[in-house]
Amino acid sequence: MPATRFVDPGIGLGDLSTHFVVHCPKCEGKAWIKPAVAGYKLACTACFHVEQQGHWYGASIAYVSVACRKCYAPLQRNFPSNGVRVPCAMHCNNCGDNGLYEPQIIRHWVKDGRMCDPVFGLPLWLQKTIRGDIFWAYHYEHLELLSAFIAAKHRERGISPLHNIRKNSTVFSRLPSFITKARNRADLLQIISDLKLK
Ligand SMILES: [Zn+2]
Ligand SMILES: [Zn+2]
Repeated sequence: MPATRFVDPGIGLGDLSTHFVVHCPKCEGKAWIKPAVAGYKLACTACFHVEQQGHWYGASIAYVSVACRKCYAPLQRNFPSNGVRVPCAMHCNNCGDNGLYEPQIIRHWVKDGRMCDPVFGLPLWLQKTIRGDIFWAYHYEHLELLSAFIAAKHRERGISPLHNIRKNSTVFSRLPSFITKARNRADLLQIISDLKLK
């Protein structure tokens, strides 16, 4: 690979959230999530399933942290959640009251060891586990950027003056160490070339 120099384009993960390639929730085939009139829309290339943004397929927990409505003792509990906000039954050990409380829903990006997209929580199409870490990309352009970064022997953080403010918040200034380690370079490049064909 001829690229020996990588200049940080100064983009953040939000800039890469234009679209996502994921596993279809119906058939596990390749599906695209793209912006639609309202929010995002999923379209499967294999079974042609189409779905508007709304359902969260990913892992999540419901979390309640409140004061008891009767005695104000602190009540805290995690519940398994399907991503839908439903009132949770809480028992107060201090006064014996049983009440329903609104939980916070906390979404997780990893489910069953697979990285998921932030819209539907579906497993990303472009991912592979390497020595216990998950290498992943939202889409093929993201994969190209990671490929250029990993292939480069010299990495510049200077980036364009326009982006100087974000120097420490770019995707490439915050990559996990398994990606930046030279000893993983050959394996990662192999994974990337496999994923590009996927
Ligand atoms: Zn499908
Ligand atoms: Zn109480």
